[in-house]
Amino acid sequence: MAAIRAAQLGLNVACVEKEAALGGTCLRVGCIPSKALLEATEKVHAVLHNQLVGVRVSSAELDLKALMAHKDKVVQANTQGIEFLFKKNGVVRYRGHGRIVGPHRVRVEGPDGTEELEAERILIATGSKVAPLKGVELDYKIVGTSDQAIAYDRVPEHLVVIGGGVIGLELGSVWNRLGAKVTVLEYLPHILGGMDGEIAKAAEKIFRKQGLDIRTGVRVTRAYAKDGKGVVEYEEGEPLVAEKVLLATGRIPNTEGLGLENVGLFTDERGRIPVNAHYQTAVPSIYAIGDVIAGPMLAHKAEEEGYAVVEHMVGGYGHVDYASIPNVVYTHPEVASVGRTEEELKAAGIPYKKGSFPFSANGRARAMNDTEGLAKVLAHAETDRILGVHIVGPRAGDLIAEAAVAMAFHASAEDLARASHAHPTLAEVLKEAALAAWDKPLHI
Ligand code: NAD
Repeated sequence: MAAIRAAQLGLNVACVEKEAALGGTCLRVGCIPSKALLEATEKVHAVLHNQLVGVRVSSAELDLKALMAHKDKVVQANTQGIEFLFKKNGVVRYRGHGRIVGPHRVRVEGPDGTEELEAERILIATGSKVAPLKGVELDYKIVGTSDQAIAYDRVPEHLVVIGGGVIGLELGSVWNRLGAKVTVLEYLPHILGGMDGEIAKAAEKIFRKQGLDIRTGVRVTRAYAKDGKGVVEYEEGEPLVAEKVLLATGRIPNTEGLGLENVGLFTDERGRIPVNAHYQTAVPSIYAIGDVIAGPMLAHKAEEEGYAVVEHMVGGYGHVDYASIPNVVYTHPEVASVGRTEEELKAAGIPYKKGSFPFSANGRARAMNDTEGLAKVLAHAETDRILGVHIVGPRAGDLIAEAAVAMAFHASAEDLARASHAHPTLAEVLKEAALAAWDKPLHI
């Protein structure tokens, strides 16, 4: 995105990418393929379990090959879309591994040989990779990462997921819906650490009801493949033996082989590249954005930074409003949040009021037969300014956009509550929660 925006702003841009397809982790093996699987399996599950309203399905069978082909097609359409945008905007693409060899020089080691590029500025946007976990021996077949779990060629009879975070819950949901027994082992007392506690607990209850075997307070110490099966050992308990094991305990910045040392750059204790407010490293001609710098590892956070960094290069300004960056988990129901959690507000000693509203009292959710979850608005006790919005419920990921815009404009709970929301929509849940935070809800 930074390359395209930079070209739009008149810069002469070259983009070095080692993979054949453009788009990075998000488009090739992350957000996009997982969402293709999540969207499709929600419907597959409803059909296989006769959960559609007004129809009785007498026989249905899973076509995993077709499901994976759909995912691959979606990925291809998206990666080719970037290729098209590169061409349209005049971004020149170089295939190969990029290594910084000087403040203005990048060596590209590609399948067709090596060449060196000279540039006024270099922008590092190399993303992240799966963080290794001590004791976990990845063989990328039985014990693997999300790269394998978006492409199993059969439904595992039992999948053990290490980590009850975003990846674990999204991909755990996919395979649970397709009939696998899924066990999620999470070290913390609750899944989705960092999310608002009330919302994470509500989500955990719903996921358990869906059949996910979520075990919290479990620290995995070892995992390995043995005799064609995955073995997972954890503190205080018998080891689990499963057909597949998915490691999903976080990601780390991808800075290996970048040549940072050639220009005197170092990473911090978490492997991130330190930058100033304009994403400039200690070498003024070298910038960095996205998963390789501090902040949440989210594609849309990186995208905002991509905009800001090139706008600053060209126009002298560029800004990211970190306080209004949403966070979404694409399970069903989805979990979404923006701003501060109740726990964070309490810890910071900020006086707040809270309004919440359940989807079960929303007409549209009832019509959709999708009533689990709630929305919660946290506003400053004195000023009424919205400080955080947290949702678990159908289409929470889409609903949170309204809250993010409201927060970007420093809206109050009253502002959100007084804004007209079309009826009957799921968005009315948010209006009611805002009404509850400001005054009192109407429909409950
Ligand atoms: P995560 O940080 O979301 O979750 C990892 C979980 O593993 C944590 O809950 C942690 O407590 C647990 N854990 C750590 N060590 C453990 C151990 N030894 N035993 C058991 N549990 C342990 O990490 P992730 O799910 O791997 O995701 C990686 C990154 O990718 C995140 O930064 C995430 O934001 C991003 N991502 C985002 C989305 C999205 O926005 N929908 C989707 C996928 C990934």
